[in-house]
Amino acid sequence: MHLNLSPELQGNAAAEEAARIVGKCVHCGFCNASCPTYRLLGDELDGPRGRIYLMKGLLEGAPATAKTQLHLDRCLTCRACETACPSGVDYGRLLDTGRAVSSARVPRSWGGRLVRTLFRETLTRPRLFGALLRIGRALRPALPPRLREKVPLGTARSGSSPTPQAGRVAPAFSAQRRVLLLSGCVQPALSPGIHHATVRVLAALGIQAVTPPSAGCCGALRQHLDDPSGALAEARRNIDAWWPWIEPSAGGSAAKANGESSAMAAVVTPVEAIISNASGCGVQLRDYGHLLRQDPVYAARAARVAALARDIAQVVAPEAEALVKQLRPGTARLAFQSPCTLQHGQGIRGLVEGLLTRLGVELLPCADSHLCCGSAGTYSLLQPELSGELRSRKLAALQRGGPEAIVSANIGCITHLGYASAVPVQHWIEWVDARLTS
Ligand code: SF4
Ligand code: SF4
Repeated sequence: MHLNLSPELQGNAAAEEAARIVGKCVHCGFCNASCPTYRLLGDELDGPRGRIYLMKGLLEGAPATAKTQLHLDRCLTCRACETACPSGVDYGRLLDTGRAVSSARVPRSWGGRLVRTLFRETLTRPRLFGALLRIGRALRPALPPRLREKVPLGTARSGSSPTPQAGRVAPAFSAQRRVLLLSGCVQPALSPGIHHATVRVLAALGIQAVTPPSAGCCGALRQHLDDPSGALAEARRNIDAWWPWIEPSAGGSAAKANGESSAMAAVVTPVEAIISNASGCGVQLRDYGHLLRQDPVYAARAARVAALARDIAQVVAPEAEALVKQLRPGTARLAFQSPCTLQHGQGIRGLVEGLLTRLGVELLPCADSHLCCGSAGTYSLLQPELSGELRSRKLAALQRGGPEAIVSANIGCITHLGYASAVPVQHWIEWVDARLTS
């Protein structure tokens, strides 16, 4: 599909990249069958091929309308279309640019801007979000159903030790292997047991998890809420916080500047990976190199961070043999909800399923497992009707075989499904942790 970039976008690196992506699309439409919004709404403009046409028009200078913006806003950014596309169209990257151009040309309503600003400034601040969540939980019984759904009760098992926060480097821990663990933004408040379980399972495998206190949100929320420069600032802050652990020989002075000198004194080997236990954040970490490729100060370090980014499953799965010896015997009937960010964003479909099977789980089949559950970051807040319908369909598929529980790999999906599920929904690492013998 040929595209003539509009004069004002010529020379713009993101627009030129978007033009190259559009050029790969042969408008075959294979992607439409994998698109949740196309399947729900049956409108070509709510499918990937139609959205690519809309973005092509935007990039060529066609007038942008509220209707264009609506069809782009309805996209879940699930990237199932990328997996389905035989031509290698990098739809996710194209959408980032298409949305930025659309937002610049079609001003959002006052209310729309306010909602996005509120989400950006509360969800990305762990302490503020934690305080608001505690207030929301106290008031929860009095809230109307739609608001109540957004204030989930804490359900996760939250142990006490070792934690990634306590002492930053778990004391008296003589692991030979060490990883950085992304602390994230909403997860520690919504479900602290996920981090605790991650640290315990890694410790059982002789791997120490380190969480520098100055690292935080990965930037994905801001990226998808019309604040790409805020997302880059969060990426740079994380790179600064992690770098002394990636390059300890070069980072001692940086660690001292961060007030981490005592912890860093113990560091002799660089970390082997940067772990995310929320697959949505993992996608963002893997993109740091691309996002900061034109930053003369951060480009090289961002590429290194991206190369080190791993989902927790990628570290645990190779150790399945050692892990199974440390679990109580027994089996369980579970259904696995594979987040889009894991299977389409990170391209590691089947890894968790294989690991759980090796650990003795009877994994029940889930029809249309490639389709989004409707969570999609803040999509469930911004598009509640579409999101709710996708959740109903996903839960019906997951619960068809009568599982004891549903396990997933992303806090957004866990919270979203957990509200309406008839069985418990948790992170798979929590399920593993609860079966450790020590
Ligand atoms: S499958 Fe790929 S090439 Fe075909 S219409 Fe969709 S994006 Fe374009
Ligand atoms: S990212 Fe998902 S919702 Fe958006 S066009 Fe692709 S398949 Fe459809």
